[in-house]
Amino acid sequence: MPEDDLESLEPTASPAPTADTPTTPSAPVPISTVPASGPFEAGVSGLPVARVLLKPKRARPFFGRHPWVLDSAVLRVEGAPAPGDVVDLVTHDGSFVARGLWNPDSRIRVRLYAFSASEQLDDAFWRERIERAVAVRRLLGLDDRAAAARLINSEGDDLSGLIVDRFGDWLCVQFTARVMHCRMELICDLLEQSVRPAGILLRSAERGLGKLEGLQVTDGLVRGRLPDGPVFINEHGMRFGVDLSEGQKTGFYLDQRDNRQAAARFATGKRVLDMFCYSGGFSLAAAKAGAASVLAVDGSAKATALAEANAGLNGAANITVETADAFKKLDALKDAGERFGMVVLDPPKFARSRSTRDEALRAYHRINRQGVDLLEPGGILVTCSCSGVVTREDFLMMLSGVAQRSRRSIAFLECRGAAPDHPVSVSCLDGEYLTCVIARVV
Ligand code: SAH
Repeated sequence: MPEDDLESLEPTASPAPTADTPTTPSAPVPISTVPASGPFEAGVSGLPVARVLLKPKRARPFFGRHPWVLDSAVLRVEGAPAPGDVVDLVTHDGSFVARGLWNPDSRIRVRLYAFSASEQLDDAFWRERIERAVAVRRLLGLDDRAAAARLINSEGDDLSGLIVDRFGDWLCVQFTARVMHCRMELICDLLEQSVRPAGILLRSAERGLGKLEGLQVTDGLVRGRLPDGPVFINEHGMRFGVDLSEGQKTGFYLDQRDNRQAAARFATGKRVLDMFCYSGGFSLAAAKAGAASVLAVDGSAKATALAEANAGLNGAANITVETADAFKKLDALKDAGERFGMVVLDPPKFARSRSTRDEALRAYHRINRQGVDLLEPGGILVTCSCSGVVTREDFLMMLSGVAQRSRRSIAFLECRGAAPDHPVSVSCLDGEYLTCVIARVV
């Protein structure tokens, strides 16, 4: 569930992380050099300056280490914290619950980072958290400087409101919380010490932080230098050019890395349709695995230009790239009697909030029905949802409806999530936003 879906968090407060998900194309964000400081640089001492009292019986989620304290759970505040200040969360009768950061302008009044009163949210604390996250990627073997990885995944790394992706020698930082943005200088210092990047770029504009968090962020270079052009990264033996200044999201969908590889295992000898191809990730993996041919389609001309360039970069001659609307193209292919051995459907987030979940499920049904209609018997459907409010069960139920309507037998071979450099906190399970089902359709 995305952070913008706060309507659905009441009353049990089991809310969701800020882990990023693919988005529809947004206006390109011009890269400029912006000053690296927020409204103020907070957190020098790391000691609490105020106490936030919870309403009676509202502490349970936070004893369960959930990191978001909504305004509706707050009884009163003792002290006068400024945005970004360290506060202690206490029960209505004053017992310590957790320590976090205060934002009066967000419905998430406090983001929690420590659950012991002995931990101070000082520079050493943030250093330890960042280094811990970086160490996990090392453990995963994702520290190759010629590749890309998500280094920090917000709640999944106990750093609510901070997302950091590394593309080769460059870091893209997304602040999804004002309280983290307040610490931008410190975070950039720590990232520089830990990762030694050639440059650090900010990408926050498309997160709607102004409305949610009371913060206006200008994207651009904050440390080091800009890359001369696209940054080239390796992924499972393929090369991709990533445009850090204009690409969607942070320029590349890292969460699908292993799903592209898993899907490719089934592509050998098949005619493949990669719908919503963006920069060609699934297409190139399928081509490398020996697909007979690949048709890659995306609605954005910028995306298809990237896919073309990446096909060229990898010498994949059997990929045809086309700019078209998915719903129309799927119908046109069916009308023309085309059939495929594999269909990949990786649409943008259809549901942005719980209120649009049912509408999204109908859209998933429609597109999957269209995809299944194009599959020859025994074909492979690779179908994804990055809508956090659509659970895995919802998605499988939707596919069961597709099986019913299309009178086809659909069995999933694999039901996958995001790559492991996108960890999900078990205290914040809704962070599991990505579902990728690989199914056989008879
Ligand atoms: N599969 C890609 C990521 C896809 S992201 C990868 O592995 O990298 C979703 C893509 O859907 C975006 O590139 C976006 O441009 C495209 N898109 C959004 N709406 C669309 C539509 N109606 N028709 C076709 N493409 C669309």
